[in-house]
Amino acid sequence: MEIKKCLRCGSLHTTEGDVCRECAIKDNAEVIKLKGVLSEGFEIGTTKQDLAIKAGITAKNLNRYLQAEEFSGIYFPETSSNIGGINEKKAELK
Ligand SMILES: [Zn+2]
Repeated sequence: MEIKKCLRCGSLHTTEGDVCRECAIKDNAEVIKLKGVLSEGFEIGTTKQDLAIKAGITAKNLNRYLQAEEFSGIYFPETSSNIGGINEKKAELK
């Protein structure tokens, strides 16, 4: 059995994912909120910061969720200072 450190709260766990069981529940709820925000549509130039605020989640957690398969291909700049720049780096972390 592999013991891993929860990416969210730092506690040790042996569950499937990257987070412990309790955080997986919180993650799920936040991903639903995030999807809700995304499904409402967003303006060009929306940053990760904007998204995090809208969804009521932390930037750190948002980054983690955006690495998921279902969000691959969606790219948001970190902050508004990146607007207009071309950045090919997408959330394709495997
Ligand atoms: Zn945890």
